[in-house]
Amino acid sequence: MMNLIELPYEITALAPVISAQTLEFHHGKHLQGYVDNLNKLIAGTPFETMPLEEIVKNSEGGIFNNAGQILNHNLYFTQFCAPNPDCASNPNGTPNPHCGLDPQSPLAAQIVKQWGSLDAFKAEFESKGVTLFGSGWVWLSAQEDGTLVITQEPGANNPITKGLKPLLTFDVWEHAYYLDYQNRRGAHLSELWKILNWKAIESRYTR
Ligand code: MN
Repeated sequence: MMNLIELPYEITALAPVISAQTLEFHHGKHLQGYVDNLNKLIAGTPFETMPLEEIVKNSEGGIFNNAGQILNHNLYFTQFCAPNPDCASNPNGTPNPHCGLDPQSPLAAQIVKQWGSLDAFKAEFESKGVTLFGSGWVWLSAQEDGTLVITQEPGANNPITKGLKPLLTFDVWEHAYYLDYQNRRGAHLSELWKILNWKAIESRYTR
């Protein structure tokens, strides 16, 4: 039995990057729909008592699609915080008590090691989101040795199916941005950096 996660911020907190209306539909309708669908599909099956990540790793078809979308959205919605001017004006990760990437963190060090700078990483991540054809997700994940990798995942897929540890994701399904940005996916993705809670993302890397 899965439950809808609660948002760790007010419904208006992410505006204007993500409006309250988009959050109401995305969390309250789309994610709620995946939760309701999965609960119907797993009732009376061995999946009923399985942790969400295990369902994603071991299922296919409708159960996989709905479980994958729940896992994806749980990671997505819990990686944001209210927009902070310091985040936007410090693209290289100057220390910030609210949501900036700590340049002393293991995650920041690994990003700089592989991409040269946070800006270069952001450019590649955004590009992978813009060029993903159709509906899906772009992910930053860690391999077992701590090396980072960006992947494009179609539909409901999650990097855990490839043995990766998911850290950060942009949802490029149209329902994530159409009310606020219509067809301008790139404009939406470039705004998302302003509301990232890097503390939450760092903790996924070091845990
Ligand atoms: Mn979505």
